[in-house]
Amino acid sequence: MTFRGDANFDTSTVSRGGGGGPGGGAIAIGGGGIITVILVLVSMFFGIDLTGLSPQQPIDPSSQSQGEEVTGCTGEAANDPANVTCRMEGGADSLSSFWEATFAANSLEYRDPSVQLFDRQVQTGCGAATSAVGPFYCPPDERIYIDTTFFQQMRDQFGASGGSLAQLYVLAHEWGHHIQNVTGDLQRVQQGDTGPQSSGVRSELQADCYAGAWIAGASQTADDDGGAPVLEAPTQQEMNDALNAAQTIGDDRLQQMGGGGVNPESWTHGSSEQRMRWLSTGYNEGVGSCNTWQAPEV
Ligand SMILES: [Zn+2]
Repeated sequence: MTFRGDANFDTSTVSRGGGGGPGGGAIAIGGGGIITVILVLVSMFFGIDLTGLSPQQPIDPSSQSQGEEVTGCTGEAANDPANVTCRMEGGADSLSSFWEATFAANSLEYRDPSVQLFDRQVQTGCGAATSAVGPFYCPPDERIYIDTTFFQQMRDQFGASGGSLAQLYVLAHEWGHHIQNVTGDLQRVQQGDTGPQSSGVRSELQADCYAGAWIAGASQTADDDGGAPVLEAPTQQEMNDALNAAQTIGDDRLQQMGGGGVNPESWTHGSSEQRMRWLSTGYNEGVGSCNTWQAPEV
């Protein structure tokens, strides 16, 4: 996914900061071998499963640090593999335009989530979170939280090109959970419901499908101000990279990498095959094809 070099982003949804503080600590990777890798991949698409946060400690929203709004990014900066902040700003700009247009086409009212980039740890409306949780969406806040040190680790795993695309896929997937929050689909998820056909997996596969629909539609969606799309059309190689990322984080694949047997009943996000298939479905057939709730089998 390449941004037009001269693109200017007009979204105000992304902020940066609000992290750090005592007790924080990025998860180490590199020396830890395969166990560390699995931890990273498992948490990479943690989605709405907020186990590990501490919602029993209510947080006064006014005490939350909002960070500082990200401004001044260009498409050229967003294409720089090392510039995660601008890539997220560009991705958010495109996702906002895409979903605004999609809702408008269906005469529905849309609202953006906000995106907060942080380091190490952050206070959220869903409790305190650290890097170990991975990127996630907090429904009460309507905010996507992304630890940028975590993305650096992903880049090490997928390489610069696959890494950039995997980062945008993560953002689009979490944005998909926000779409579910707006449409009400998120309420269909029953806590603790696992397995290949569970409500939890259906929710995750719909978020993957929405990500695929955005990848295909982004280059055809005018920017909010009516300007040219901020993203160029994905190449086949880039789509293959996205499919490869989806395959890598399938529950069965992760269980195999963990050295244990494959236990479908414990799946929370879907198998490699399911994740690739729904990402492709969204990519090939668009948002209207993403009703994982009505599908007899997902
Ligand atoms: Zn998810």
